[in-house]
Amino acid sequence: MIPSAFEYHRPADVKSAVGILHEQGDEARVLAGGHSLIPMMKLRMAAVTHLVDLQDIAELKAINVDGGKISIGAMVTQHSIIADAALAKAAPILREAALQIADPQVRYCGTIGGNVANGDPANDMPGIMQCLDATFTLAGPDGTREVKARDFYEAAYVTACEDDEILVSVSFDPTSGGYAYEKQKRKIGDYATAACAVLVSMDGGKCTAASIAMTNLSDTPIWSEAASASLVGTKCSTDDIKNAVANALADIDPTEDNRGPVAFKMHVASIVITRAITRAIAAA
Ligand code: FAD
Repeated sequence: MIPSAFEYHRPADVKSAVGILHEQGDEARVLAGGHSLIPMMKLRMAAVTHLVDLQDIAELKAINVDGGKISIGAMVTQHSIIADAALAKAAPILREAALQIADPQVRYCGTIGGNVANGDPANDMPGIMQCLDATFTLAGPDGTREVKARDFYEAAYVTACEDDEILVSVSFDPTSGGYAYEKQKRKIGDYATAACAVLVSMDGGKCTAASIAMTNLSDTPIWSEAASASLVGTKCSTDDIKNAVANALADIDPTEDNRGPVAFKMHVASIVITRAITRAIAAA
């Protein structure tokens, strides 16, 4: 199918883009890499009368790893994330996760901003952002505001981003310790049946910090406070890991779909969470 008719805008800065969104209300949508939005428009599942293409906005394309805080512009592609050596050193879990998204063709176009703003529970970056405790910066008609990734997702395709706002960047602290992103999918290039992001720090044989987030196991990404907290202070024995996995499973609510029934998803979740925690601990 072809999309219904729309007006195409290509602003050169964020202020102009926000101005168009504000003027056109919920009939306007921004276009980033187009790898989620264009298929939705072609299937007529997204009705867009004004398409605001962000590709000419240079300020959205920077990766900044200096100064103790990492900031990634919304229009940075998944390919650029993989290729950035400084970023891979400062937060290696991001590169590991980006390499598991689709295939190189998709990653050349798909952006970090589109992946996190889309609100699709199957997107990989939202769970990673929650694991990293990232902050999203949104620009709107009244200026910018910040929303924590852990507060951004309200339901499937419903986020804290208003119709006249643009996500301009994501930011988070560099990581230390062990990390892992484990993703189970039906075939190469597929979205996750279940995935889990883990960051762990160890000192003197004990866990000093842990962060555990999950992808496509509820209608939003899930950061499990209980699972993360239950590892801290333990020696991360097999029983400690089992306890953390049980806590993580208690926080998810998968639904049956073409990736399987609920019982299967809970089973796959328990495996990917166990693998991610175990691998992160081994690397810490
Ligand atoms: P777009 O499609 O342009 O936009 C997506 C949505 O976000 C739209 O509603 C748009 O209005 C909004 N948006 C975009 N940018 C902003 C912004 N800066 N501020 C506010 N709103 C914004 N993704 C995965 O995570 N894992 C996978 O395994 C995976 N597999 C895929 C396989 C295939 C074959 C394809 C086609 C896609 C796959 N994707 C996967 C999705 C891909 O990574 C998308 O590119 C990504 O989810 C959306 O990014 P985009 O830049 O293409 O955004």
